[in-house]
Amino acid sequence: MQLTRLRGFQDTLGAQARSLAAVEDCARKMAERHNVGEIRIPVLERLELFQHSSGETSDIVEKQMYAFADRDEAETTLALRPEGTPGVVRAYIEAGLDRSDPEQRFYYAGPMFRRERPQKGRFRQFSQFGVEIFGRADAATDAELMVMIDELRRDLGLELNFEINSLGDSECRPRFRQAVLEYGRAHFSELCEDCHQRLERNPLRLLDCKIDVKLAEAAPKSLDYLCDACRAHFAAVRELLTDAAVPHAVNPRLVRGLDYYTRTTFEVISTAVGAQSAVAAGGRYDGLVEALGGAAVPGSGFAIGVDRLALALEAARFASYADAAVIALGGAATRRAMKLAAEMRAAGLRVELLSPGRGLKALLRRADKIGARYAVIIGDNELGRATAVLRDLKASTQNEVAQHDLVAALCAGGGAR
Ligand code: ATP
Ligand code: MG
Repeated sequence: MQLTRLRGFQDTLGAQARSLAAVEDCARKMAERHNVGEIRIPVLERLELFQHSSGETSDIVEKQMYAFADRDEAETTLALRPEGTPGVVRAYIEAGLDRSDPEQRFYYAGPMFRRERPQKGRFRQFSQFGVEIFGRADAATDAELMVMIDELRRDLGLELNFEINSLGDSECRPRFRQAVLEYGRAHFSELCEDCHQRLERNPLRLLDCKIDVKLAEAAPKSLDYLCDACRAHFAAVRELLTDAAVPHAVNPRLVRGLDYYTRTTFEVISTAVGAQSAVAAGGRYDGLVEALGGAAVPGSGFAIGVDRLALALEAARFASYADAAVIALGGAATRRAMKLAAEMRAAGLRVELLSPGRGLKALLRRADKIGARYAVIIGDNELGRATAVLRDLKASTQNEVAQHDLVAALCAGGGAR
């Protein structure tokens, strides 16, 4: 019997694992710079949480949820989280922060699960990095979210395009929704099966329909329905983005179906990852905390697809490398080599100790394979003289160096990168 991984699930190792870690590390640093603190929340939640927040007519809840009944707890239905926001909002309310200390800034990182059709950049388990900001309704907060992603983009050396739209608020959004509903009814016979199902309950989904593209393009646009306050908010966000040199384009088809999504919504597109080019999405959700049973606190945030950003990075950047392979020839040399390797690591070098039992030739092949810049070789002769042979594997030169000068010699030579 051969046990294999499930379709849409990935094993990640080597350069791929390093590039995922690089995206997450960069994102954490970026968030900390913006004084956003980490929140860790469970991977399993009650199914209702996602039904209430992601919405029963969303693709996520309709088609993509991993849900099952728990045998304990009176047959509670559980679900693997398909996104981070619902759990963060639940935790925020559960800690009482919506009432005691509503202004909070959180980031999360970790796996999400959606049962969708696997393809390049689209997996059933994938990793997201997200930020949620509570208690701030101002335009600067919306702009800052996009500035955060732009900083991350720059740190990673990627090109990304920002698309932005405004959905209005509780005053003007209902008028827009009604206009789309009437438009949908008028074109009912031309709509796809899914849009037929969703039209009355969630008409805005028509705008991001991947099948009725022409109809969606000709549909009413939210920007034409904004009230004065929403129009001013949107203009302020755009002005701040321009000041921060974040290039952005208005995309009137960017929508979110549910009423608690308000005002600013945005998507971030990579030019480098092919068909699955959306690398992040976010926006304002002023009604969500209240919809999940909390106080009326505004919120906004984004989620980045870590896997897609990692795919956009050049794989060569994450090729394996080591600063040194320390090669011990014999048992006595191994004891000395262990100490020397520890000193090198303490100096910040990346070092692998290659123990004896293989010939020098095999050990040097291994040093080459791990991308080591130097081999440090210690045999009985070197042991007696308190030296080591320092071999530059790139230049194919070598010389004998006193053991107490090794760290300095390695640091002076620079690493492999
Ligand atoms: P898409 O239109 O690609 O299905 P989405 O609207 O479902 O994306 P969001 O729920 O907004 O995506 O999630 C934010 C980001 O998470 C996306 O922009 C994408 O980068 C990433 N993402 C979403 N689903 C997947 C997946 N199945 N595999 C890998 N990354 C994903
Ligand atoms: Mg999706």
